[in-house]
Amino acid sequence: MIPVSFEFYPPKTDEQRVQLDRTVSRLKGHAPEYVSCTFGAGGSTLSYTADTVRRLLQDHGLDAAPHLSCVGGTRDEIAALLDQYRTLGCRRIVALRGDLPSGMGHPGDLRYAADLIAFIRARHGTHFHIEVGAYPEMHPQAEDALADLRHFKAKVDAGADAAITQYFYNADAYFHFVDAVRALGVGVPIVPGIMPISNFAQLRRFSEQCGAEIPRWIAKKMQAMGDDADAIREFGADIVARLCRRLVDGGAPALHFYTLNLAKPTQAVLARIA
Ligand code: FAD
Repeated sequence: MIPVSFEFYPPKTDEQRVQLDRTVSRLKGHAPEYVSCTFGAGGSTLSYTADTVRRLLQDHGLDAAPHLSCVGGTRDEIAALLDQYRTLGCRRIVALRGDLPSGMGHPGDLRYAADLIAFIRARHGTHFHIEVGAYPEMHPQAEDALADLRHFKAKVDAGADAAITQYFYNADAYFHFVDAVRALGVGVPIVPGIMPISNFAQLRRFSEQCGAEIPRWIAKKMQAMGDDADAIREFGADIVARLCRRLVDGGAPALHFYTLNLAKPTQAVLARIA
């Protein structure tokens, strides 16, 4: 069985908390290597992330990794969060730059994810296993594709242990990215981030924001399915499962699922690749 991990976002209401508990209980059966919890840049989900990580660790007994983004934060704020996560028992962190919500002022003390990784290593040595973001289809703000690869390598040189990619639906983008960073001497595992498809309108919105490409043929077929949610779910699970099989056959070391706090779309994919 290919190792899997699951990403959740921090619930803010009691209703969302109940839903996350239900989702986690269902997905636990797939024995994830770890689970992670996102963080709103600029601290907008600060306490929710810590609280969710605590519950994933203590109530669910999972290896839980908080995402930590440095944009908008001071060194002192980031140091306090790291101490808090260490006290909670975290051994793993997903270290990111993040994106400032538009209109938010101060960029923060640490400019790029590489600076955050160096900061974590300087304060906590090897205590945390550090995951970073990778962009097989290029980060939308990068000057160019080669500069983006160099910036990715800088994160590994600063001490990252592994990477999780932005989601994509074109396996060749992943294989090409892995070949390109290996040619630069980067040896860390690069785990594909997998976005199951359940709601096409939402997926299109996310993809516009983060620069992930939805292949034209997939978009056209989804559009043609209109409001037929069952057909979209079936088709989405089929194409994402086929993507996962190609990635695993091509050497991907694990799969990281962006669950959006829903169990079924991820389980539909996992059932097809079991
Ligand atoms: P970086 O690696 O710092 O790169 C950001 C940009 O700066 C890139 O274009 C890079 O090429 C460029 N760059 C880097 N170094 C330099 C340099 N020295 N000079 C010039 N340019 C440079 N966002 C959240 O807010 N919360 C989350 O929880 C979250 N989770 C994520 C999880 C994963 C797995 C991924 C892939 C992304 C996640 N994001 C999250 C989104 C992420 O924060 C954004 O993509 C953000 O824009 C970039 O973060 P990064 O850590 O990749 O940045």
